[in-house]
Amino acid sequence: MNKTNMENVLVIGGGLMGASAAWKLAERGAKVTLIEQQEPNYSKGSSYGSARITRSLGAKKDVFSYVHNQTIKEVSNLIDFLNAEEKTQVHTMGDVYTTSPVTYLHPKEDYLKVNKYRFKKQKNDYSRASQNSSFRKFGMTIPKNTFLVREKREYSGSLNPTVLIDKLRQGVTKKGGVIKYQHQVVGLKKNDDVFEVDILNLKTKNNQKLKISKVVVAAGAYTTEILKDFAPYLNRILTPKKIALSFLRIKDECYQELNEASKQALQNGFPFFSQIGKEYFAIISESKNGASPIIKAGGHQKRRNIHDLDKIWEEAPTKQEKKWIKKQFKNHLKMLEIHLSNKDIEEVESYNCVYSETRTQIPIVTPIFNKYRSLDREIVIIGGMSGIGAKGCLSYGLLATDLLLGKDEKPTNMYRKMTRTFSNPSVSLYAKRKKSGRLF
Ligand SMILES: Cc1cc2nc3c(=O)[nH]c(=O)nc-3n(C[C@H](O)[C@H](O)[C@H](O)COP(=O)(O)OP(=O)(O)OC[C@H]3O[C@@H](n4cnc5c(N)ncnc54)[C@H](O)[C@@H]3O)c2cc1C
Repeated sequence: MNKTNMENVLVIGGGLMGASAAWKLAERGAKVTLIEQQEPNYSKGSSYGSARITRSLGAKKDVFSYVHNQTIKEVSNLIDFLNAEEKTQVHTMGDVYTTSPVTYLHPKEDYLKVNKYRFKKQKNDYSRASQNSSFRKFGMTIPKNTFLVREKREYSGSLNPTVLIDKLRQGVTKKGGVIKYQHQVVGLKKNDDVFEVDILNLKTKNNQKLKISKVVVAAGAYTTEILKDFAPYLNRILTPKKIALSFLRIKDECYQELNEASKQALQNGFPFFSQIGKEYFAIISESKNGASPIIKAGGHQKRRNIHDLDKIWEEAPTKQEKKWIKKQFKNHLKMLEIHLSNKDIEEVESYNCVYSETRTQIPIVTPIFNKYRSLDREIVIIGGMSGIGAKGCLSYGLLATDLLLGKDEKPTNMYRKMTRTFSNPSVSLYAKRKKSGRLF
């Protein structure tokens, strides 16, 4: 059965970025249709899971701190909106954010850089400790030639993507937007200034053709596949990468033997980010009263050997990857003065996940060139979010909205900086690559 419709803005992908864009567009009065191939219960994709590290601080005028801090304001507005609509106070910031200051372990040679960027203007928001003072200040014993930094800001800690996606989608529907789950975009082209989007209903197997004037593509690792005919050059800018994750915990019988100080140290010690050798991160993913918390741990050692994007989630990480993550976890516990052997730690689960990354590792929120090399301002992609996108998701959604609908207030300097940072890469890459003739 074929149907032809006219809609206002189509958002492809209902993960953190698509849901953020759909909410901001709907809030601005656009008639939004959000297409998501999964069922309402978000179960795979870069936004899958219950914890992402958030940080509020960075160098002065750091654009990544800015997008995070703006996202906090946007989440607060969303929560006010939902509470007002439902005439309740059930939605809270605590549903989305857990304030639990992030601890960074740095090599000593980073000291001058970190001191310059992080402390000079923001002394009150950070604590730092050398090897000598780390136990007294943070209850951690750290290796030689390293130092610790901890943020003290509210909402520095973690964000729950599953909860935020759910609230964003509620916001979209309350504003009159339509969300079509189990619908998959299988083709996109443009004729006579109108996008023609082929949508497959995965339940009924029926195809629908949608004609629409504006589109946001926020399909995570699938973005280049969707745009392979419209903007084939994108697969040289956005590359899917595979990342191994393990969910570990101290065995419960062992955890119950820990004294209260060690249990507290465990709570305070996460999120943890180590920049010694290969990057390593760890964050509490689940913490039930009295039980040993589950820690999500991994490194951003990305691999490109992807045969089938759909199957990545079913693939287990390699033995070496799991071993490396467990070793880092054990070392971190040792720093928290919790000395355990391998048999005291159990793996709850481990899997591979995927995200897309740009060559510069800077996300892009930008209109794109069509295959005739002309910039099309009616289509915006939000992509290349790699391992840093979650904390700024609503800023990226806001930027995509402004690019499509126009900005409705005077931009601040930081807003301009955000636009310059995220909206240009494809343009500059295009300019640079065109000379070598390799772009199209
Ligand atoms: C292991 C890991 C750790 C991370 N850690 C952090 C962190 O600590 N801090 C941080 O800020 N960020 C972190 N991130 C990054 C952050 O989670 C991602 O940047 C963000 O979730 C990306 O969201 P997205 O909406 O772009 O992609 P996705 O969540 O993948 O959403 C894309 C959506 O599009 C849908 N879709 C795809 N193709 C189609 C189609 N053809 N038709 C319809 N729908 C389609 C998919 O089903 C999916 O729901 C991490 C990411 C990973 C993977």
